[in-house]
Amino acid sequence: MGGDVSGSPLSGRTVFFPPMTEAGVRTISAAFRSVGIDARPMPPSDEETLLLGGRFSSGEECLPQKVTLGDTLKLLVHGDVAPEKMALFMPASNGPCRFGQYGPYMKMVFEEMGYGDVMFVSPTCADGYSGVGEHADELLRTAWRAMVGGDLLQKILLRVRPYETEKGAADAALNDAVGILCRAVEVPGEKQGEKLARIVAALRQGRKRFQSVPTDFSSPRPLVGVVGEIFCRLNTFSNEDVVRKVEEAGGECWISDVTEWVWYTNADHHRELKRYGKTLSMEMLGAKLKWHFQRKDEHALLEVFEGDFRGYEEPHDIREVMELARPYLVPEGTLGEMLLSVGKSVYLHRKGVDGILDINPFTCMNGIVSEAVYPRVSRDCDDLPVRVLYFDGTHADRRYELEIFMELVREYSCRKRIRRILPGDFGAAGSAGA
Ligand code: SF4
Repeated sequence: MGGDVSGSPLSGRTVFFPPMTEAGVRTISAAFRSVGIDARPMPPSDEETLLLGGRFSSGEECLPQKVTLGDTLKLLVHGDVAPEKMALFMPASNGPCRFGQYGPYMKMVFEEMGYGDVMFVSPTCADGYSGVGEHADELLRTAWRAMVGGDLLQKILLRVRPYETEKGAADAALNDAVGILCRAVEVPGEKQGEKLARIVAALRQGRKRFQSVPTDFSSPRPLVGVVGEIFCRLNTFSNEDVVRKVEEAGGECWISDVTEWVWYTNADHHRELKRYGKTLSMEMLGAKLKWHFQRKDEHALLEVFEGDFRGYEEPHDIREVMELARPYLVPEGTLGEMLLSVGKSVYLHRKGVDGILDINPFTCMNGIVSEAVYPRVSRDCDDLPVRVLYFDGTHADRRYELEIFMELVREYSCRKRIRRILPGDFGAAGSAGA
């Protein structure tokens, strides 16, 4: 088990992860360290990120590409890391979306600038995850647990922060809880059962840390579901911390997490295998086993928070969300976030949310397609307020736009037919619906 990567293509390199959520990028780096791969989150994005990313983009690229390119160039031009010592985690993708072009385009830029030795890590099941060396199976399991744990802590943050009575206390709790989780995840050489027990114990400690945040839940806030393109939705730099702005405007947010995307890609893999007549194949058996073990691990970690997410339950199966989108977008023909955003909006309406924000990079085809069907979605969901926001890194002032949206949300909240389970004190089960 983990610890020695000599002979692996990553030996002698540091893998950098573009940040999606703060918790996610830290925990996934810890998972890589658990098998002996030096891994770190990319340093925080800033104005120089946009400057460098913009200098080597034509303006037609999506914001996540500009941010990732700018963050990587920042490390290289300042000489913080030598190109031959660096690896960049960049998931691969086929299909029509521009996402599949990020890696090839960045490679081209690095070569032109003399940084051609930067290695790209794009692990896929098609190549047996060979890019991460012989510990691939162990790493995949630990990475999944790390990701679920990170998502759960992020979810707790959004559950608690709007009700904190000491500004900054919930963010500080998240920072501590993620640190505790990372220290558990990165321990090398453990058997799977030992690792799971260690992560569960770390999450219990993290939960306790959140319980020490002073809160007042006596005035429940309207709940806003946040969907959209995965990077822009979760990366607070790209979306100008829109969740915090909703909280400042009096709301509370329920954001679609990274785990949701993993379940979607799993479901899509099953669908593809069936489509190509591989229902009875070793590949399908492998896909089913993966689903089974991921579900088992997820349950084990979720149990730590029993009662905390009453009223905030995620769908039992992602295919439920895909089916909810069907009246508007056909799941077999419409792929990616547009499908999830539309289906999840309907799901969240049924959970009693008071509004939906769909977050996207400027010109993102997911946002454009979802926006086209939202008027029907809203009409079918009792005129639920749905707002699509686009971000291009220019820091437009959105306060008024959000205030108007929050007015609509409050108005809907007073007249809505589907009531939600209101948040009780954190640590106790939610209170009665209203
Ligand atoms: S999902 Fe949107 S932002 Fe991401 S690559 Fe595709 S078009 Fe660009």
